[in-house]
Amino acid sequence: MSRHGGRGWHGRVLAAAVGVTAAAAATSMWTAQANPVEGQHTPAGSSAHSSAPNAGSKAPGGKPVSVDIAHASDRGARGVNITIDDGPDPTWTPEVLQVLRDNGVKATFCMVGTQAQAHPDLVKAVVAAGHRLCDHTVSHDTTMDKKSQAYQSQQILDAERMITQASGGVRPQYYRAPGGAFTPYSRQLAASHGMRPLGWNVDSKDFEHPGTGAIVATVKSEISNGPTILFHDAGGDRSQTVAALREVLPWLKQQGYSFGFPVR
Ligand SMILES: [Zn+2]
Repeated sequence: MSRHGGRGWHGRVLAAAVGVTAAAAATSMWTAQANPVEGQHTPAGSSAHSSAPNAGSKAPGGKPVSVDIAHASDRGARGVNITIDDGPDPTWTPEVLQVLRDNGVKATFCMVGTQAQAHPDLVKAVVAAGHRLCDHTVSHDTTMDKKSQAYQSQQILDAERMITQASGGVRPQYYRAPGGAFTPYSRQLAASHGMRPLGWNVDSKDFEHPGTGAIVATVKSEISNGPTILFHDAGGDRSQTVAALREVLPWLKQQGYSFGFPVR
């Protein structure tokens, strides 16, 4: 995700965003991100509502995939979509997989291409457990909406290849722009490759290490925003994420939610 401090690509992106010219835009992005239902200047990825599906593009050999950003669950009104971003990571992905297994939950993993390439065993484990794959680009550049089409294409299609190769041929079914920095071009390109653009409704804020209790509280209070919930299995110590999932998944079940995948 975008506005996380910390290490690696996140740290570099944050450093860039703190520059004088970008500071105002970054602040407004953050505000809108935190209040997705209010709609003003809402980044595409975090919108609580998606418009009616456009005429989709044909996936290779498959049914048309809409270019609109998906938020809904294939399990309907009481469905929720657990989405896990930025991995795979050798320390945390196995732990997240264990919590999901213990709760009988299938999730969607938005993988960074280089991470997938470095850990093909983990990509295969995700697929073998019945989860779905999502393309989260090669470099996790949250300013991709400011970049050339050639750059966007390279980021999306190279990651698609890396993930598909690592999985042993299972293709990502979604594309999530880092930080929600979608463009009409990137949505069209992803859809034409059978990857539905994927947003989110609830940012658990787990990336910021707010404490397990705070992550759980955020999900409980914001689940009314919509069904797609964002967690992370990489980019730092994710022990709070793992602990929060252990609480949140049974709670969601008690509330009558069932776990599904984002619509395609
Ligand atoms: Zn991310």
